[in-house]
Amino acid sequence: MVEEQPMVDMDTIVSLCKRRGFIFQSSEIYGGVGGSWDYGPYGVELKRNIKNIWWRDMVQRRDDMVGLDAAILMHTRVWEASGHVESFTDPMVDCMNCKKRFRADQVENAVCPECGGQLTEPRLFNLMLKTYLGPVEDDASLTYLRPETAQGMFVNFANVLDVSRKKLPFGMAQIGKAFRNEITPRNFTFRTREFEQMEIEYFVKPGTDEEWHQRWVQDRFEWYVKYGIRRDFLRLRQHEGDELAHYSKATQDIEYLFPFGWSELEGISNRTDFDLRQHASFSGRDLVYFDEETGTHLVPYIIEPSGGVDRAALAFLVDAYHEERVRKEKRVVLRLHSELAPVKAAVFPLLRNRPELVTIAKQIASELRVEMMTVYDDTASIGRLYRRQDEIGTPFCITVDVDSLEDNAVTIRERDSMEQTRVPIPEVKDTLLGRLGKL
Ligand code: ATP
Repeated sequence: MVEEQPMVDMDTIVSLCKRRGFIFQSSEIYGGVGGSWDYGPYGVELKRNIKNIWWRDMVQRRDDMVGLDAAILMHTRVWEASGHVESFTDPMVDCMNCKKRFRADQVENAVCPECGGQLTEPRLFNLMLKTYLGPVEDDASLTYLRPETAQGMFVNFANVLDVSRKKLPFGMAQIGKAFRNEITPRNFTFRTREFEQMEIEYFVKPGTDEEWHQRWVQDRFEWYVKYGIRRDFLRLRQHEGDELAHYSKATQDIEYLFPFGWSELEGISNRTDFDLRQHASFSGRDLVYFDEETGTHLVPYIIEPSGGVDRAALAFLVDAYHEERVRKEKRVVLRLHSELAPVKAAVFPLLRNRPELVTIAKQIASELRVEMMTVYDDTASIGRLYRRQDEIGTPFCITVDVDSLEDNAVTIRERDSMEQTRVPIPEVKDTLLGRLGKL
């Protein structure tokens, strides 16, 4: 059963992210800039962990996938061929009274959401961010910051096929920045102007595309569940006719129940042979596959699972957030999957004014650091130190106490159960690696 309301509101998440160093407003000291966010010390770890497990699961552990890292700046013709120059638009309306601008489909009752003023008729607004290559700002040097990573994979189809010698079906994967001049960036990092995508372009024989589309939808859905998102907070949504992008035969979104409602985490599209045919026609290069079985050339169909790193990070954070009562006090804990947790282990001396304890704790931390993200902390009482680590989702806290001097052992406290076990110091590293599933 889905709870009526997700447990946490966005203000709580935004404030935790700032307080604990996950996410800051971009250029905050200058008053901030709309639609840009900076990931702090723990946010950057969370994001790296998401990207690493995605890469491991989608590339390293599969025989049918290879990686790519294409440039953000591409030839202008790419965006003409892809249809972005013509069709990558959102309808926008302006308020005639306060002059604010909104996406037409996000305005209710045809009045300004801010001041109730009258709105203009919708006009199309291209979401690509323009830039100029070279010192002269004329049309010849105009290009765009890529609005998706996908095109880099289509234009490299022949190169990658050549060097990888893969047979259909096979795919390319890429993680990288994308830029969209969103009319109304909103909901924290959910809709921003600069974001990161994790995209797969999976090339299949025409006729097998619908089956592969369904397989990828299921695979990608289960991937979020595997790393801890509650199944009831995920759903699939099929795009209806007029919602389909110009290249798509079918699209299914994986949506998450964010505090602001069901919203897209990832879209999985059947792009048909549209992209390869467009680029072949615009570039004059053959983008075909020789099918040895039939002895003919064919243009593969493409299935594209396209997810956002930032949206995944936000969903993992929101889903992991728990408040509990422990001995009449509120405990905030991020129950992040251990693979996602920014810090795996925190080491404390019970008494920071006892140099023998400090030395042992620092020694344990420095040994653990070789294997996993570890912090040493002695800047507060033990209760506060636990609370800090709970709030960033650290699975294990290790405390060195006075008894450690006698028994050469320490206490390991597990985040979710708060269970404490006594472990000999020489066994700490392997115990943690074992419990993290790394042995
Ligand atoms: P939306 O309908 O929310 O604008 P979209 O359907 O245009 O998204 P796609 O073009 O399918 O998005 O992009 C693939 C993925 O990239 C999305 O599922 C999302 O995770 C991410 N993404 C797209 N736009 C943004 C954005 N402005 N900010 C953050 N992530 C984004």
